[in-house]
Formats: sequence, structure tokens, C-alpha cells
Amino acid sequence: MGFADAPEDLLSRLAAIVGERHVLTSDADKDPYLKEPRDLYHGRSPAVLRPGSSAEIADILRLANETGTPVVPQGGNTGLVGGQTPDASGRELLLSTERLDAIRAIDAAGGTIVAEAGVVLERLQEAAAEAGMLFPLSLGAQGSCRIGGNISTNAGGTGVLAYGNTRSLVLGLEVVLPTGEIWDGLRGLLKDNTGYDLKQLFIGAEGTLGIITAAVLKLFPRPRGQAVAFVGLASPEDALKLFRLARDQAGSGLTAFELMPRILIEMLVKHLPGARDPLASPHPWYALVEFSSGRSEADATALVEGTLADGLEQDLLADAAIASSLDQAQQFWRMRHALSEIQKPEGASIKHDVSIPLDAVPDFIARASEAVTRVVPGGRVVGFGHMGDGNIHFNISQSPDMDRQKFLARAPDMHEAVYEVVAALRGSVAAEHGIGRYKRELLTTVKSEIELDLMRRIKQAFDPNNILNPGRIL
Ligand code: ZN
Repeated sequence: MGFADAPEDLLSRLAAIVGERHVLTSDADKDPYLKEPRDLYHGRSPAVLRPGSSAEIADILRLANETGTPVVPQGGNTGLVGGQTPDASGRELLLSTERLDAIRAIDAAGGTIVAEAGVVLERLQEAAAEAGMLFPLSLGAQGSCRIGGNISTNAGGTGVLAYGNTRSLVLGLEVVLPTGEIWDGLRGLLKDNTGYDLKQLFIGAEGTLGIITAAVLKLFPRPRGQAVAFVGLASPEDALKLFRLARDQAGSGLTAFELMPRILIEMLVKHLPGARDPLASPHPWYALVEFSSGRSEADATALVEGTLADGLEQDLLADAAIASSLDQAQQFWRMRHALSEIQKPEGASIKHDVSIPLDAVPDFIARASEAVTRVVPGGRVVGFGHMGDGNIHFNISQSPDMDRQKFLARAPDMHEAVYEVVAALRGSVAAEHGIGRYKRELLTTVKSEIELDLMRRIKQAFDPNNILNPGRIL
């Protein structure tokens, strides 16, 4: 019996599980959950469910599995590929993990924290800091994204260079399976070679194999010193050379290397309140570079000064500003984390989140820029990102005099042009935002038949009735 046959009965059974007031059915209540940050997807859903425990989620999924009712899990609703938004059918239930927001345990000596799925990333960072430790996952949406979503999408961000992406921060998981069983894999071991590492399957699965309800995460010692600089550069080639120089000097002490073109500085100054041009005169490219030291503030400052001095000597950089206070360092980072937001007032944007072998990043930017301006003359290339790990957000903003819809209609041609360059350089078409619905068709063109077949068989093994986030990824 499908949901369409018995909505009232199903809704009352769901209310019996989570409580009447946690089944939202009015349009006003549901609306914030049914649209996403880019405004690309608007979903419909009979109800938004707000369970308060893993046991309630298990009961919901058991019922959904029995009745063949599709369920879409959602964390902070900050995903960028439509994975957390119900489709237009009006059949898919939305399950929000926001009420699972307890930090269950923190062990500074062991370097672990146990957090429920709905804990907001920033709160997790703060809890770690209060215990004198560092949780290094850091990204623009950290004030609203939730750790369950971060894990389900294997989020990247600005700390990947030094600490890896979310996958490398997860030691154990608690997951509710589509059949309603609960898997307690909340182990905090660094070494555990006991056969298949099942947690890895749920990380980056975008809620298609199970709903992550809690995780054991790795904490790191807090750096004793940090130094941040904004550097003015002539080209991505020079940025790459400076990156190598910085890494040679600092090793794992180089904790961020973010690249951005001049146009983003202009957008920042225009749209971000309080943002100032970081350097006295304009430069074609900029890098935000961060060094961390486990020893002292002076040690971090020596690393940044040494790198910049060598860069100047080798003619790699034109100008640089080292943050002179914690305040200024935070201001630099505030600018970096605002880069997605400040593109919005500039009109429509066609986006690509790609991964490129590090050495080929400058080549990619040159070739892809040329390719997209051939598709849409006048389109403004906004290519920026985590240069240190080869992840470029290659966006194209419409020109102000262009019609929004006409510009967006060229997206398929634009994508094709960019992904052709990505393929030629042996990169990936999805670096850190995932597949969702946005790149589902694209996935079939970049994965081999064997890979796709194995993925389908895994999905079938976990979710035989295809009720959990159906149509995402596969
Ligand atoms: Zn990013």
C-alpha cells in the first residue's frame, strides 16, 4: 500500500511516533524545509517530521519501509545539489534531524567527541575549543549546517589541506537503516581492522543508505600560534609556485591556501558590510594563506614571514598583508567564508565544484575560462577555492546587462565545456558538494559500468524497497 492510498492514516501513525507537534503539515511551517540555498529546487511534502531520538527515527523508517513511503533526510538544509529537498511529487516525507542536537561526550585526552547528527558545526567547533581542542572542519555554512549532513555529504571546506575532509575525521557512526534497524558503530578506535569498514559507506552517501544519527569524531590539539596573510599575485601559476614554497617551509604547518580572483575582492567590497580591499593596489589574483604552529605565535609568524620573503625574492608575489591581530585574521577569514554569499547579488551564476590534480590547476583555470567565454561571451568567470587541495569552485556570473533566464539556459553547454576540460586533465566533476539530484545524470557519464553496478547493488542491499532518499546519486 503506497502513501497516496492512505495519507491520513499514515500521518496519524507518524504523529503517534514523534508527537503531534513534531509533524508539520501547514505550508508556512513546511516552507523553510522545502527550498534550498540556491533556489534551484522547490519540493513538496505531505509532512516535515522532527523526531527527537534515534529510536523515533527507527520507528519512522520501519513504517515507511512497510508502506513504501519515500523519506528525505535533512540536516541544516545547506546542501548545494538538491540532495536534501523533496521532489515535486508531494509523496516524499521530509525528516529533519535538527532535534538530535546533543553532544553526548567529549574526551580531550583521547581526542574524541561524540555528537548527534543535528549539532550545528559551529557549536561542535566551540565545544571542542572549550575542551582545549580543535575540530578542524570549517566552511562557509558552519553557522547553520549540521554535522550529520556534513558527514552524509563528506563535506570539504578550508581545513582539508591539513586535516583531510570529513571522512578522515569520523571514527565511528550510529546509523538507522532504511529497514528500521539501528547500527551502533560508535567506536572511537584509531585502529580497527575487522573486515569491511561499514561506516565509510554511509559517509558521502547523501542519506541514501541510512540516516546517520550520531558520530564519534576526531579532535586535534589546538595550534598555539597562527598567522594569516592576504597575498597579491599575478597569476594562478605564481599561486601554485607560492603554495609549493609555503608547503616546503611549513609542511603540515601550512593549514590553508585559498585562491581567489580580483573580481571576488570587488564583490566583497561591494556586498559584504565592513569588508575592505586587503591590499593597497589591485592584483589579478589573491591567496589567503594560513600557517599554524604547535609551538608558539612567534613560530607561526616566522613561517609566514619566511615564506613571503622567499616569494618576494623569487618574484612570485607583488604585495602581501599579514594579519596584525586576531581580529584582522578573523576579518580575512570572514571575507573568505562570504565568497558564496556575495555572488548572489551579482545575478545568476552557473556553478561547477571540481577537483583537479594540483599541478594542473592553473592550466584548468586558463582552459575552462576560455571555453566558457566561448559559450557565453561576456560571462564573468569567478574561479576560486581551495587551491591547496586542488578543489576549484568554477562559477560563471552573468554580466549585468544579460537576461537572467537566457543566461541560465546556457548552463548545459557551459557544463559540457567545463567538464570536458576536467576530463582532459583527469579531474573530478564533484569535489566536495556531492551528487544529489543536480549531478545524477552526470555521474553516469563519469563512472564505469562496474562502478555504477556496484553502487546500485550496495543501495539494493541496504534499502531493498528504495524508500530512503530515492533518486539521489543513483
Ligand atoms: Zn568550498
